[in-house]
Amino acid sequence: MPIGKRVVRRVDNAKPLTWSQSTLEQHVVSSTPCPTSLPSEHPITLVCVSDTHNTEPEVPAGDVLLHSGDLTYYGKFDELQKQLDWIASLPHTHKVVIGGNHDLVLDEACDEMDEMLAEKQPASELRAKLNWHDIIYLEKSSVTLDFPSGRSLKIYGSPYTPEHGRGSFQYDPAEDVWSNTIPEGTEVLMTHGPPKGYHDAAVGGHAGCPHLLREIWRVKPRLVLFGHIHSARGMSAINYNEPTRTRDRARMGEHPSVGETLHAVAASKLGGHKAPDALIVNASTMGPGRPWYDPKDRYTVLQI
Ligand SMILES: [Zn+2]
Ligand SMILES: [Zn+2]
Repeated sequence: MPIGKRVVRRVDNAKPLTWSQSTLEQHVVSSTPCPTSLPSEHPITLVCVSDTHNTEPEVPAGDVLLHSGDLTYYGKFDELQKQLDWIASLPHTHKVVIGGNHDLVLDEACDEMDEMLAEKQPASELRAKLNWHDIIYLEKSSVTLDFPSGRSLKIYGSPYTPEHGRGSFQYDPAEDVWSNTIPEGTEVLMTHGPPKGYHDAAVGGHAGCPHLLREIWRVKPRLVLFGHIHSARGMSAINYNEPTRTRDRARMGEHPSVGETLHAVAASKLGGHKAPDALIVNASTMGPGRPWYDPKDRYTVLQI
């Protein structure tokens, strides 16, 4: 959700779906109900939140706490520090955080914005003063976590979202800022915004990024975690197979042919049931306007 009232770019995809797009959306569907675990010999429990916006939801214990951005509302130092102190107080062995479009103090491109100039100290000094405790902060970067079972988990995080109002870490929606940025072998991808077509329904259409979706298909992470579109909280399980790829190519705007569409629909019907390859999750703690009513909807627990 944008900061402030000035919306500079609308979500311009309220166009009617083409025959291929609607056929693929109707017949190539993600598994429902969605499982909360992927097959694994030594499962790791991930507790996922996003868009806490200064709230401190109660969350269950687990191996890793993941926060997908928008910790604050106004992006001020004090707000962010309080969120970091809260996250640091949680019992999880590892805590991994990215920023979002509300977290202005984290983005040096926002240092001259009115909100930052109104702070008592320059934003660059405040950024340096943040106490991250034992929290791992990712900004277009990766970390590999090791676990006592011998397993490890490679996580990549990036806070960038398509421009929508004023805010931090934003890009022109027409620009492809994703291709070849996510390292091969990434198992958990943390972004602030959704990929196109996955839990991204907003006022005016699907607000997710098609270039991010294309990059996901190149790297094929096991978990994609985001928030940002508060009202679209939810999750999907997918297989990285041909029918799903054809459907997602339509979401990317690549216009699969009639033959490719019919082939994908037939292959999807004949494919049978397979364990999913990946979970794609919008873990927004905030619903439309306030935290989700049921406290259990303020976090998502997954095993991978
Ligand atoms: Zn948010
Ligand atoms: Zn956001």
